[in-house]
Amino acid sequence: MPERSISAESALIHAGTSRALGAPAVPPLVPASIFVSLDDPEPSRSYGRGGNPTWEALEEALGAVEEADAVVFASGQAASMALMLALAQGRQRIVLPADGYYNTRVLADRLRPRNVEPVPVDLADLGAVERELAAAPAVLWAETPTNPLLRVADLASLGVLAAAADAPMVVDNTVATGILQQPLQLGATASLSSLTKASSGHSDLILGAVITRDQDLLAELRGWRTTGGGIAGPFESWLALRGLKTLPLRIARQSENALAIAWHLGAHPRVRAVHYPGTEQATLAVARQQMPRGFGPLLSFELDADAAAADAVVAASRLILPATSFGGVESTWERRARWTGETAPEALIRLSAGIEPVADLIADIDQSLDPAR
Ligand code: PLP
Repeated sequence: MPERSISAESALIHAGTSRALGAPAVPPLVPASIFVSLDDPEPSRSYGRGGNPTWEALEEALGAVEEADAVVFASGQAASMALMLALAQGRQRIVLPADGYYNTRVLADRLRPRNVEPVPVDLADLGAVERELAAAPAVLWAETPTNPLLRVADLASLGVLAAAADAPMVVDNTVATGILQQPLQLGATASLSSLTKASSGHSDLILGAVITRDQDLLAELRGWRTTGGGIAGPFESWLALRGLKTLPLRIARQSENALAIAWHLGAHPRVRAVHYPGTEQATLAVARQQMPRGFGPLLSFELDADAAAADAVVAASRLILPATSFGGVESTWERRARWTGETAPEALIRLSAGIEPVADLIADIDQSLDPAR
């Protein structure tokens, strides 16, 4: 496990860079499917499904942020799949949020034929979580803030419940990233991220990662990756590493923008509810404690209107890009319930704040909400 001798921010900038004279200042992109090898093959330098120097540089950077080891995968979902397969072994249930990223529930449901039952709960109801964990050997799969309702779960309390039940706790840390929230310090066995979002930050790649200090789990994850084949492309890894260098700057600006937008929307007559960890009074104390540096780029709001009216608002923007996903430097929004399987309210719009000047974003939101202005 890497030792923290410098800050996470510096580690992100310098990870993977050789200081040898004449070495490139940037970790090289190595698009190789095979490496020269003889006799007994070294697993990570023989066939490219077993290892690649560019993924390893990315893993070094990601691991440094949470003072742990990282395993990168072809996508966030590939990372979740390997983690579920590894942790479900010998356990009967995956206790997961009823309102989190809907494809996590879809994925967990695919484990039913392997005798693993997905059990949706409200993570804010600690009594319910405790009961479900006690019912049979389980994995606790937390997500905070959740996508798309931005609900905040109390990770320290969940970590205590998980430890008491001997259940490994996973935290989907995609929305916050390791710069804003460090799940391994709050009792998580593994921190999962879709690197597709704010971690890489430029909406130009799909990747995922698991970060853990558990060496057995690490070996299992690498095993599933090599044999299952959900490997990260070297080019995507290189782009992600480049993006990570500016993550602290981007996420600070995005968090500022999102907070200002959330307050603005909260006072708008067409908006029925705003969901943002930085404005939700019921969970603000927990959010401040576990996300001390900012509340992230993502918020959602519900219009006092129907789905068609929400679609019209999204379509009316001139700056904010109508698109799915989140975390990029460009602001994006979408009516979330347009996706089959999503359980968000019909007129809920999810907005990802980019790094544009916030006045431009607020002007665009206002003209989209009231095109006659
Ligand atoms: N976790 C969360 C919270 C997500 O929002 C997403 C994607 O939207 C994923 C995981 C899956 O990531 P990917 O799209 O990189 O597979």
